[in-house]
Amino acid sequence: MNFDYDLFVIGGGSGGVRAARIAASEYGARVGLAEEYRMGGTCVIRGCVPKKLMVFASNFPAEVAQAQAYGWDAQIGSFDWTAFKTRLEGELARLEGIYRSNLQKAGVTIHDCRATLCGAHDVRLADGQTVSAKHILIATGGRPVVPEKWQGMGAMTSNEVFQMEALPKSLLIVGGGYIASEFACIFNGLGVKTTQFYRGAQILRGFDEEARGHISQEMCDNGVDLRLGTDILEMETRDGQTWVKSTTGHDTTYDAVMFATGRRPNSDGLGLDALGLELGPGGAIPVDRYSQTAIPSIYAVGDVTDRANLTPVAIREGHAFADTVFGGKPHYFDHSLIPTAIFTQPEFGTVGLSEEDARDQGPVDIYCAAFRPMRTAFIGSDQRVMMKLVVCAKTDKVLGCHIVADHSGELIQLAAVAIGMGATKADFDRTLAVHPTISEELVTMRTATRSYGE
Ligand code: NDP
Repeated sequence: MNFDYDLFVIGGGSGGVRAARIAASEYGARVGLAEEYRMGGTCVIRGCVPKKLMVFASNFPAEVAQAQAYGWDAQIGSFDWTAFKTRLEGELARLEGIYRSNLQKAGVTIHDCRATLCGAHDVRLADGQTVSAKHILIATGGRPVVPEKWQGMGAMTSNEVFQMEALPKSLLIVGGGYIASEFACIFNGLGVKTTQFYRGAQILRGFDEEARGHISQEMCDNGVDLRLGTDILEMETRDGQTWVKSTTGHDTTYDAVMFATGRRPNSDGLGLDALGLELGPGGAIPVDRYSQTAIPSIYAVGDVTDRANLTPVAIREGHAFADTVFGGKPHYFDHSLIPTAIFTQPEFGTVGLSEEDARDQGPVDIYCAAFRPMRTAFIGSDQRVMMKLVVCAKTDKVLGCHIVADHSGELIQLAAVAIGMGATKADFDRTLAVHPTISEELVTMRTATRSYGE
């Protein structure tokens, strides 16, 4: 049977673009790709990239305060949101252009419109065309969700936050995950009076408990008004501001409210129902480890599958799909060891098992150190960093590493290489310390802080 394309990709984000490029440039596939918004997806347009640039911007006041304490005659002045936003938009347009030109160089045909499925091999484009493809890859990502009760009340999500006309003077952020915690630190750093409501007992559920407690304490010390065990009870717009009554009985008016209460796969309205493809919990597209759906010609990668919603994961899933289907090199991305960084202030780098998960699986030794780092201890700051290794008591293998410290995202990348190779605690101990650094602690912790038996 003749198809218009060997592969049609729906979605121009990290996963879809990688799959399209590899299939076309490495394996000579005829590839079409549809994107209804801007090329680059969540990561480039309204996620990791603009967020990280805001993290950089928000760090400067603390750095200038440190510079002063070190003896510099330095003043931070005020923050010009408009200037930052203009530069940010320029940068995002530049990156979007690179994504587009890389696809074009690879020979991918781009359709700048929405696409839906109308058959196991057929795609209907919003510009009126229908195209056929031997394989279809759904890489439509996800979107933030606001609890139903609070929809339509003018609150922001991470989608709108980069488009604000002006910085609010006061902001309420609801949620305790990656996004809520990162933005609480960003806005606090930018000088916005920031309150964060989290309904549970401690932010960053699912991560190492000691690290969560450490980050939460440091965030409070840095000025975030973090209210644990707190949710919104009532909310109203009053004179252009938002009045909020909390479940703990306090009421306050904020310039803006942002919900970071989770994300949902973009699987609605794609035509999957009509094809008999049943969706999983929350609208995720169910796939096997090769990212193939129950319909053999249709695959899905990235956040729309709700496996691990991280850019590098989507990229690896997209690459493995292209190698498997077009390169004759079947393989899949193994989701079992995913290093990640949460860009709170202080930053959190983490890989492998938390202390809690590890001790449920067998005997473990925990090596943990929390201390005042040289750079800020020198100027009398109480800021502390935390390093933790979770070690299997039977095999001596390092099962997890958790670092709360400036640049811990950079550090955890390298720890992940060692842990991925099966490094033991003895391997860490044998490694010579790099002095004076924060991370030398990782190779100098000799005595277990605590141990758990079988
Ligand atoms: P998460 O699922 O991580 O967190 C959602 C938070 O909202 C949780 O604290 C949850 O509470 C809370 N919540 C959910 N529903 C409600 C509700 N109805 N009312 C009040 N609170 C609610 O989602 P995020 O949006 O923070 O992030 C989504 C994903 O994006 C992450 O899991 C991550 O994979 C990715 N991401 C990665 C980043 C990185 O790599 N640095 C940065 C940003 C995002 P509870 O814990 O009680 O369920």
